[in-house]
Amino acid sequence: MMKEYIEQAEKDLLHTYNRYQIVLDRGEGVHLYDIEGKEYLDFCAGIAVFALGYGHKGFNDVLKAQIDKLTHTSNYYYNVPAIEAARKMKKATGMDRVFFTNSGAEAVEGALKAARKYAYTMDGTTDHEIIAMEHSFHGRTMGALSVTGNPHYREAFEPLIGNIKFATFNDFDSVLSQVTDKTCAIIMETVQGEGGIYPAEPDFLQKVRALCDEKGILLILDEIQCGMGRTGSMYAYEQYGVMPDIMTTAKAIGNGVPVGAFAMTEKVAEKSLVAGDHGTTYGGNPLACAAISKVLDIFGEEKILDNVRGIAPYLEEKLNKLVEKYDFIQCQRGMGLMRGLVFTCPVGPVINKALEKGLILINAGTNIIRFVPPLVISKENVDCMISLLDECLQEC
Ligand SMILES: *Cc1c(COP(=O)(O)O)cnc(C)c1O
Repeated sequence: MMKEYIEQAEKDLLHTYNRYQIVLDRGEGVHLYDIEGKEYLDFCAGIAVFALGYGHKGFNDVLKAQIDKLTHTSNYYYNVPAIEAARKMKKATGMDRVFFTNSGAEAVEGALKAARKYAYTMDGTTDHEIIAMEHSFHGRTMGALSVTGNPHYREAFEPLIGNIKFATFNDFDSVLSQVTDKTCAIIMETVQGEGGIYPAEPDFLQKVRALCDEKGILLILDEIQCGMGRTGSMYAYEQYGVMPDIMTTAKAIGNGVPVGAFAMTEKVAEKSLVAGDHGTTYGGNPLACAAISKVLDIFGEEKILDNVRGIAPYLEEKLNKLVEKYDFIQCQRGMGLMRGLVFTCPVGPVINKALEKGLILINAGTNIIRFVPPLVISKENVDCMISLLDECLQEC
């Protein structure tokens, strides 16, 4: 049955992904089931999306009720779920003003526009520069791609937006050497995801913040993957004692409903986007915002952050044991429940073997297995994952 579906899909869908050979059907807690009923323990969570796991009753009930009430209004009118979601987002991010989008890439686009508009308001010129990081990932649309530090993703689509300079992540001198009078923003992920699970070093991020303050440059932190509790705080920057001027969030804030947001301080908002500068048809609609609002409530009610802080050291300890045990595993790194296990060889065969055994894992680059499980996992789930992975490593 799966084989026929897959053949059909390969005829009809644009081939932009080399998909794993399973067709997923339903989810429950931290498990997924394919259309033939096989169970998988999920340590991917739809790429760091399903923070609360699958089939959360309280969450699903709110969505169902909102579907029956009203799903869309356009941004010409106000709606209560968006008003409530914005208030809760401000509290969660520490920012003052929020704009809702439909995806992460769209949030990055908005953040870049907001930064350019701010610089334009400040000095009336239009040739400002943005510094981005090598090995970064910010999305696939033209603006987000322009600041993505992977030349293979960018090359075929050039010319992208201009005046972007790349610096080395965690190398302050490299950032400093790219700064000019025209620099209006520095964009980075607080913890690089796609690029290989590299957390910013505290000293680096703090120095970049100080540099931005000194030169009037805006700091944009992309927390689309590392935000929403994944590292053990609501947003990873909290743990650095650093606040961005503009931040982006998406993935887990919708727990499966496609949403995103960018947010900024009042200081930036006062001189940035105004009516007519930016918009979206769907962004911030009542269905999407009911999801965001409920996700944020559940984070409080079910003490999701406490679970991340409790489980993460356990996962780390277990991964360290694998590092000791296998000489083809170099190290593990990350923050909270966002971790990478670094191999000296490609991890594709291990991931495929794991899938056969009912364990869903993903990579970050060729040599790194990335762990971004639902934030509600238990120690038993970690034990089960580790023992399946250990079996795969022995067989590979
Ligand atoms: C996933 C991701 C994006 C892009 O989000 P989409 O919803 O896929 O557009 C941007 N930045 C980071 C850090 C991401 O992990």
